[in-house]
Amino acid sequence: MLLSVIVPCYNEEGNIDLFYEEAVRALGDLMPRTELIFVNDGSRDGTLEKLRALCGRAEYRVRVVSFSRNFGKEAALLAGLRASTGEFTSIIDADLQQRPSYILDMLKILEEHPEVDAVAAYQEERKEGAVISVFKKMFYKVIDSMTDVKIMQAASDFRLLRRPVVDAILSLPEKCRFSKGIFAWVGFETYYMPYEVEERASGTSKWNFWKLLMYAFDGIIAFSNKPLVISSVLGFFIFALSIIYLVFILAKTILWGDPVAGFPTLACLILMLSGIQLLGIGIIGQYLAKNYTETKGRPVYVVKEEWDSAGRLPQEGDS
Ligand code: UDP
Ligand code: MG
Repeated sequence: MLLSVIVPCYNEEGNIDLFYEEAVRALGDLMPRTELIFVNDGSRDGTLEKLRALCGRAEYRVRVVSFSRNFGKEAALLAGLRASTGEFTSIIDADLQQRPSYILDMLKILEEHPEVDAVAAYQEERKEGAVISVFKKMFYKVIDSMTDVKIMQAASDFRLLRRPVVDAILSLPEKCRFSKGIFAWVGFETYYMPYEVEERASGTSKWNFWKLLMYAFDGIIAFSNKPLVISSVLGFFIFALSIIYLVFILAKTILWGDPVAGFPTLACLILMLSGIQLLGIGIIGQYLAKNYTETKGRPVYVVKEEWDSAGRLPQEGDS
């Protein structure tokens, strides 16, 4: 297989057929050497039925991996990468915000430049709200200063990877997967290609502000130990300050015999210190929680069924 195209789908019933048609139109002559891998991430609408119907009538190779529930886009990407057999593997959204014809441009770049291992598309102009945009910028600043990996700010998950890059990504055993970090961590020569984002063909975005915020925290915790260092350093400075303050109060009392005072100061100090302590415990807790998830060793996702256009694929447990 020359090309594997991984399409994560969560409640995308209106986009499946459109995506297939668009992919066939865009990839044209490449289609006989291409496999489309749709990962149904526990959709609650008619996505699975649409995929089943598509498998029945598709002219070209279509493969479907269907999860037992919604495990998130990161899990869907991993399942897609595991299923891919192509020399080149592309990751693209189902909603046609990323036009499949860009895959051809990416392929051209990889064919013309043997030294380049991956092409990542980035948005030159972002079509999103001002608040989200400011927070995204802040997130990339924070993650940039806290981690050793360099994550290109505007780069999306829309990528084309050579086989060795896919193998490197699959060799990471971690369960808490933050793809943007993993792409950066595995290294390799990446070419950043500008692209223009379209409007969603149908349905709505699965992201909201809180989901993005949690995703940002996950990313920082997964790729940096600095929050732990910062909380230790903060603890040390507050300790040093408290010693200075202690000496100051002692001196003041001995020299001028200050009567009992300073209740507001005390209240502020208690509030501040307990806040910082809770923050520190929270940070440790986050790492502990991630560690717990990793040591439990649960799979990242559970596959309920798997099909391709030729029929049902053998499953584990089949005899
Ligand atoms: N997606 C998924 N699982 C999820 C959420 C999203 O597989 O839990 C898929 C979704 O179907 C789409 C892609 O990930 O193909 C990008 O999602 P979306 O369009 O909602 O994100 P946005 O483009 O708004 O960043
Ligand atoms: Mg989208």
